[in-house]
Amino acid sequence: MTAFSVWTAGGGAGHRSWQMESRGVIIAVFAAPVLAAAAMWAAFSTGVASIEPRYVVRLAMPESGGRIGLPKVEGPPDAGRPLVVIDAGHGGHDPGASGAAGEREKDLTLMLAQSLRDALLAEGRVRVAMTRDTDRFLVLEERADIAHRLGADLFVSVHADAAQNDAAQGATVYTLSDKASDAVAGALAARENRADTVNGVNLEGKEAAVSSILVDLARREMRERSVRFGELVVREGQQALRFHETPRREAAFVVLKSLDLPSALIEAGYISNEEDARAMRDPEWRKVFAGSLARAIEIFLAEGQVPAAAENAALR
Ligand SMILES: [Zn+2]
Repeated sequence: MTAFSVWTAGGGAGHRSWQMESRGVIIAVFAAPVLAAAAMWAAFSTGVASIEPRYVVRLAMPESGGRIGLPKVEGPPDAGRPLVVIDAGHGGHDPGASGAAGEREKDLTLMLAQSLRDALLAEGRVRVAMTRDTDRFLVLEERADIAHRLGADLFVSVHADAAQNDAAQGATVYTLSDKASDAVAGALAARENRADTVNGVNLEGKEAAVSSILVDLARREMRERSVRFGELVVREGQQALRFHETPRREAAFVVLKSLDLPSALIEAGYISNEEDARAMRDPEWRKVFAGSLARAIEIFLAEGQVPAAAENAALR
């Protein structure tokens, strides 16, 4: 059985500020009825449901079926061509953020990801795979794992941002950091990463295993290359797209924790901003977004082809 956990407290330092502000509200509005229901259920079930300290609730879920199948790889049949894995954020029972006109982040991310795939396939220079091409749920680790198993050269996760302030606007490119570069990035990472806690994945334990100096070197290398990709996204998009005033940021996204391939998470715009939300709903705008992003991807992969092969050989 797979555990289904709702975490309302605990977790790493990145979640701390969110907890402090929200703990009272969550306990009153959310956790109390959930805990009551879970407690009743725990009493009648055979121990699969239990309440741990710090308000961790576990409910029994159907078996996930183990490792998921790999998506199809599209584009030129030449396996020597670089492979981009595009990840549409959220999906299935995880809708992501929502907009004033009823937009759901999971729908916008899928349409944006599909536009990007179409733009890359139209150019015909690289191969493309999508972590999801339908409205389905994937655990965060599964998304990067798909890219890893396919031997991808680049992983691009597409999301739509949300802010309390509905004036916040523009696209942002995030790359991985151990510590978020600012409070906004930290809060966003905490929100996106919470998509995983519903699957009972213990994110805290993952850090303990990564200790060797080789891993550190590989991570640093991948971080530098990811940052370079972020620079290209902003450079190539500058003419056609509106970026946030801080267009490149670092945050501790679980979905970006790949040691062996460059990766970035792109927030195409703010779903909480009327103008951005309207743009993301517009197929023509998505074409412009996808076109500039596809150009950045192609330049990045062309730049990296020779040194990347040498680096990968050295690391394996
Ligand atoms: Zn998101």
